[in-house]
Amino acid sequence: MNPWENAQQTLKQIGEKAKIDPNLINVLLNHDHKIEVELPIVMDDGETKTFNAYRMQHNNWRGPYKGGLRYHPQVSLDEVKALSMWMTIKNAVINVPFGGGKGGIAVNPKTLSKPELERLTRAFARELAEYIGPDKDVPAPDVNTNGEIMKWIADEFGDKAVVTGKAIADGGSEGRTEATGYGGVYALLGVLESMNIKPAGLTAAVQGFGNVGTYAAELMVKNGIKVVALSDSKNTIYSNDGFDNIMALVEAKSKTGSLANAVKELNIECDIMAVDDVLNIEVDILAPAALEMAITKDNAESIKAKIILELANGPVTPEADSILNDKNITIIPDVLANSGGVAVSYYEWYQNRHNENWTKIQVLEKLENQMKAAVADVLAISNESNLTLREAAYALAIKRIAEAKPENN
Ligand code: NAD
Repeated sequence: MNPWENAQQTLKQIGEKAKIDPNLINVLLNHDHKIEVELPIVMDDGETKTFNAYRMQHNNWRGPYKGGLRYHPQVSLDEVKALSMWMTIKNAVINVPFGGGKGGIAVNPKTLSKPELERLTRAFARELAEYIGPDKDVPAPDVNTNGEIMKWIADEFGDKAVVTGKAIADGGSEGRTEATGYGGVYALLGVLESMNIKPAGLTAAVQGFGNVGTYAAELMVKNGIKVVALSDSKNTIYSNDGFDNIMALVEAKSKTGSLANAVKELNIECDIMAVDDVLNIEVDILAPAALEMAITKDNAESIKAKIILELANGPVTPEADSILNDKNITIIPDVLANSGGVAVSYYEWYQNRHNENWTKIQVLEKLENQMKAAVADVLAISNESNLTLREAAYALAIKRIAEAKPENN
């Protein structure tokens, strides 16, 4: 199954279980617009290469389409279809006035020179120009994209409010870099509190050491959680004592290219294990923060964590979800756990449009409150209707989306 088939299955199953109006589920099984383009780019050696690029605009009842742009060789129409639907749900769960969209280019950006990356991005921005805008569709960074890429898009378009996730100097918001990882930990703390569990002394494993995984790990450590395992696309590193200086690991990884080299550089004694071993370690919290479909029916049985914090989008397939539920593992779903990124993207869009500049303390305080409010809303529905947190989050989102339905739809 591909991500879009998984996303459709989840939506249909939750629709039935939570007794949601089937007409609404049908609306959400479709997308408003599909933008699919081929981008011929002159490479540095003079040869022309063509890249496939996509933008799916899923639903805009609650506000402009909103969601990231991903640069990855596996980007496909089905992947962005799933990701854009999840954005509609997520934006409603975290209660920002946005609909859902997502896009990307099928490319490994690490094989491009910077001028090639810029030409590719600017070509994509020119193709997207008629479909995006601060009140229409607002892209943001996702896997392998960043503030600089957003700046090139804003520059082609001619208005900084057309994208979020920009560098501070280009109109970005304080706190956006930390937002998704920190937001995930705020959600985790909210759920732990509802279970009467104190974070200090718990153990965690984090899969993926990019923007989201690193900041989540950092804030877990600050809350006394022992982060015993981390992974990147090459290895898992494991230490029974826990890794406490996450930012030193980030720096050493960026210098040496991998976590395995980073621990050598820092003289940290730990086990270097296979890439997927991070999923099977006996910990309280497992946080998948890499790509979708990390946990499938083939490896779900071997998961030993008690709580799964879905920081990536779609890291657990529907089959795996039911295996994990049967094992009584609490799953904090992606549409709640990683919604901190889009919450601060909303703050950035708001600040751009009102000419305001909030401090990092203000932003993180608002984020913590907004995440904890969303957790409380989801928990209330979960308890009231005996639904899992994923089912409750979807039920909450779909209720909010339905309330915003335009008259003529
Ligand atoms: P990123 O590109 O900064 O990091 C991704 C990391 O995952 C990289 O370190 C990569 O090496 C690692 N990785 C890839 N395959 C792996 C594997 N098989 N095992 C272990 N690690 C692997 O991307 P990011 O922004 O941190 O995004 C991570 C996930 O979070 C994605 O699913 C993304 O859609 C989701 N997300 C991101 C944001 C955001 O604000 N950045 C917001 C919401 C959701």
